[in-house]
Amino acid sequence: MKRTQSDRWAALAAVVRELYGEGVVPLHRPVFEGNERRYLVDCIDSNFVSSVGAQVAEFEQRVAAFTGSRHAIATVNGTAALHVALQLAGVGRGDEVLSQALTFVATCNALSYCGAHPVFVDVDRDTLGMSPGALRRFLALHAERRDGGCWNRASGRRIAACVPMHTFGIPVRIAEIAEVCAEWGIVLVEDAAESLGSYAGTRHTGTFGRLSTLSFNGNKVITTGGGGMILTDDDALAKRAKHLTTTAKVPHPYEFVHDEVGYNYRLPNLNAALGCAQMELLEPMLAIKAEVAQRYREFCARSGMRFAGPLPGDTANFWLNAVVLDSPEDREDLLEYTNALGIMTRPIWRLMPRLAMYQGCQHDGLENSYWLEARVVNLPSSVPEGAFARLRA
Ligand SMILES: *Cc1c(COP(=O)(O)O)cnc(C)c1O
Repeated sequence: MKRTQSDRWAALAAVVRELYGEGVVPLHRPVFEGNERRYLVDCIDSNFVSSVGAQVAEFEQRVAAFTGSRHAIATVNGTAALHVALQLAGVGRGDEVLSQALTFVATCNALSYCGAHPVFVDVDRDTLGMSPGALRRFLALHAERRDGGCWNRASGRRIAACVPMHTFGIPVRIAEIAEVCAEWGIVLVEDAAESLGSYAGTRHTGTFGRLSTLSFNGNKVITTGGGGMILTDDDALAKRAKHLTTTAKVPHPYEFVHDEVGYNYRLPNLNAALGCAQMELLEPMLAIKAEVAQRYREFCARSGMRFAGPLPGDTANFWLNAVVLDSPEDREDLLEYTNALGIMTRPIWRLMPRLAMYQGCQHDGLENSYWLEARVVNLPSSVPEGAFARLRA
């Protein structure tokens, strides 16, 4: 097959080899180079491995302290966290939720669990995330404020919430999105699943929404095997979040009383133990990931490729590094070239309205979303072997 840019792809593969060595290079692998084993064994020895135990509260406190959120409520995964956060934001059956077409499917699935309908507004080409301009235009064109809420004139449905997502850890223009939501009386819920360690200005992502959520799946910046977290500054919502995710059980020494339909979404203590150890590694992990990103950034600058980085003044965690290629042909070509070498590169997600269950959802044309879908490729982004040892030396 004729390569469009074979010299360029070979040079990029050489950078990947310098970072990660020979053999198959995964897109993102977890690292367990801290107290993971010790805390897991402690947890087993304590016999509290499941839904009760001290590690859950410890993990929640560590994440709250790190992000600057008043409360953090651990859940069994990030999708469950989003489901409950949306429910607590007041999203119910027949409502609409504004979100991105360019996201991982979990964002949309969670609002579907609430019986709500997604509506997609376009993203910005620089942040790869929700465009406040597109949001403002959509609302001016289609929405009206009445009865203390915001309504979609075409569908007659209430627009209950807005869920932007910090794509690959690059902060969206969240302060501006928060302003638009406030103007229109729409609750802001941030999907910060990919952005632990990313800051919009000096504020951690996930502290702008009334509620927001994190994920600790195996492929994320840090992992608990599977896990998630709800963040909020609101005392009452935090209490409700804990209640709803723990089967809505009313505290009692022995009676089983549940006062609403709750969920078994609590994070097991074993997973939380892993989380405590991973939180201790987060700072060095972010430093190493920033170095990897810098290598890719320099390569891109030398070879005239666009590296997807944060806006000036923002900080990305560089969970997954991404390049924006010149053409859809380049995307196919780079994916094929690198994967044939055992270097795992991946395209960005297929747009939500192109998936069977979200076809026919209202959207604004999604010009930038389609443009990016055809051009964005993720590069291997793990913490390289031996990087921790070098950092400690
Ligand atoms: C990973 C992820 C989630 C949910 O994560 P799980 O923990 O796997 O349920 C939600 N939204 C986005 C954008 C994600 O990347």
